[in-house]
This record gives sequence, C-alpha cells and structure tokens, in this order.
Amino acid sequence: MTLNVLFAALPERWEFYRDSLNEAFQSARLEVRLQQDFEPEVIDYIVYAPNGPVMDFRPFTRAKAVLSLWAGVESIVGNSTLTQPLSRMVDSGLSEGMVEWVTGHVLRHHLGLDRYIRGAPGWDPVVPPLARHRAIGILGLGELGQACAHALTALNFPVSGWSRSAKTIDGITCLHDEDGLRRLLSDAEILVLLLPLTPETENLMNRERFSLMPKGAVLLNPGRGALIDDNALIDALDSGRIANATLDVFRIEPLPQDHPFWSHPRVTVTPHIASETRAETASLVIAENIRRSEAGEQLLFLVDRVSGY
Ligand code: NAP
Repeated sequence: MTLNVLFAALPERWEFYRDSLNEAFQSARLEVRLQQDFEPEVIDYIVYAPNGPVMDFRPFTRAKAVLSLWAGVESIVGNSTLTQPLSRMVDSGLSEGMVEWVTGHVLRHHLGLDRYIRGAPGWDPVVPPLARHRAIGILGLGELGQACAHALTALNFPVSGWSRSAKTIDGITCLHDEDGLRRLLSDAEILVLLLPLTPETENLMNRERFSLMPKGAVLLNPGRGALIDDNALIDALDSGRIANATLDVFRIEPLPQDHPFWSHPRVTVTPHIASETRAETASLVIAENIRRSEAGEQLLFLVDRVSGY
C-alpha cells in the first residue's frame, strides 16, 4: 500500500529534504508518496516543523503519527488538536553540530581568545589554566547534553551534568534535584544550557541561581531562550557575576533590534545556528519511524506529552 506523507515544514526546506527522504523511504522498503500538499484526510504521516504550515491537526483524521524535524517540541507539545503520537528529532547530524558549537564556544572562553582577536597591540601574556582545571556544568543530560559532555571530557575538562532523573555516566559527575543544581551552579566556571523548554525549566536561570555561580563565570545558551530570565542575566553581566554570555536562542526570534543583548559588550548573539537537523541523517530517522509504525513497533524518540519533552 502506498503511504501518503505530508512534508509540513517551511517550503524552502523542501529542496533539502525531498531527495533524502525519498531515498530513505526506498532503503526502508516503504512505498511512499511524499508531497507538500494533500487533502488532510488522506495523509498517513506528517513530517513536521514547528515553523511550518500545520497548526490544527484535526483534519488529519487518518494520520498515524507526527514526526518532528526539530529536537525542541515546546510549541507543539501542548497543542490540544494533536491526538496522534509525536516523535521528536534525534539526529546524529544535529548532535555533531551542537558538539561543535558548544566546544568551539567553550574553548573561546577557556582560552580567552577575545583578548587577542580583538586586542589592541601590546605584549600582555595571560596563560589560561589547563582544561583539567576549568569546571564545566551542563544543564540537561539528554542526547545533546551527553554528546557535549563526552566531547568536553575528551578534552580533559571536568564536566558535571544535571538532569531530571538520576543518572550514572562514566567520566561525568551526574547530578539531579535542587541540591544537585545548586552544587553544579556553585562550581561551574562555564555553564551550558541544554534543557528543553517546559513549565519546570522556564526561567530556571533566575537571579538567585545566577548568584550561586562563581564570579566571572561564562554562560552558553544553545537550549531555549526562555530558560533564562533576561533581566536577571543583564544584571548578572553588569555586576560581573557573569563575565560573558554567548546566546543562540531567545524568547522572541529573530531577537528584536532594540533588545539589550545586541548592544551589551559582553554578550555574543548567534542567530539560532548552534545546530540544525541535517536532511541526510534525519531522513533515515523519519523513515525508520514510519517503518516501525507500519510494523506495529514502538516509535523512536516519542515525546512524553505530560513532562513536555
Ligand atoms: P533530550 O534528549 O530530551 O534531553 C533533555 C534533558 O533535559 C534530559 O537530560 C532531561 O532529563 C533534562 N530535563 C528536562 N526537564 C528537566 C527538569 N525539569 N529538570 C532537570 N532536567 C530536566 O533533549 P536534547 O535532544 O538533548 O535537546 C535539548 C534541547 O536543545 C532541545 O529541547 C532544544 O530546545 C535545544 N536545541 C537547540 C538547538 C539549537 O540550534 N540551538 C538545536 C537542537 C536542540 P532526563 O534525562 O532525566 O529526562
């Protein structure tokens, strides 16, 4: 039987995905008609992006699953019209990209590269400590947090990570609950936010939590903008508690022209480019999930609608 699969992402993404998805369907021996438009009632699966055209899932009466191309699902998880199972994207390309962004920015701050890249002429040597003496904290020990933790550990950084459930991961100090968070924050010289945005994590980094951090700590946020109370961060930067922040995600994107992050001398803004789903690898994940669904097997990377991620 031919399956009708709707590609419900931004139209400009079609040319990146069309061939990769069709090849992946073929390799999985799935007979698929992939299109950007169909009558909703004939659709079997929806390949979905939160910034794409579908917001109301009620007309998709035959759809068996919604397969997100994005890792973060905060904008769909509470959608009451969505009754089908929802899977999020876990993609090796997405993880690789995040590891590169995070290690790149950790090394920038660890080595103090700005001093020399932007520096005025002058012989003013400042030797950075070895990585083994620079404590890194990662909030979120999921797919991306763990991938970054392993890469940083391989560079000798001591890494602590925090998650909702208790974990044991070789070479990483794993913490959970409020006490664990306080411990992590009070040690972290460089803090990386890789949590999903949920009601529990919104504004997690508030005034009180910034005040727990060592003076002069660095913040990297490639997670979600609303994990941070923006005003608390500006105050923490102005007081010197936070020496530098590199932010990839924001409450409103694109970040509004008049937002103080743009002009703050110790904030680097990157425009939500830390990591992107890669069509070649992500298409294999989509095809595998459709194969599983058709075979009556459990979908990979199912979103728990109660916990919100
Ligand atoms: P994931 O595999 O679902 O991992 C989420 C981690 O956060 C898990 O360790 C989870 O704990 C922890 N967590 C969730 N709620 C928590 C809470 N209330 N308290 C403590 N820990 C909590 O997600 P992922 O694939 O690593 O992605 C993480 C986020 O990165 C995404 O949600 C998205 O927002 C962001 N992202 C950004 C970009 C970008 O380009 N900037 C690209 C991709 C993703 P448990 O392990 O106990 O469940």
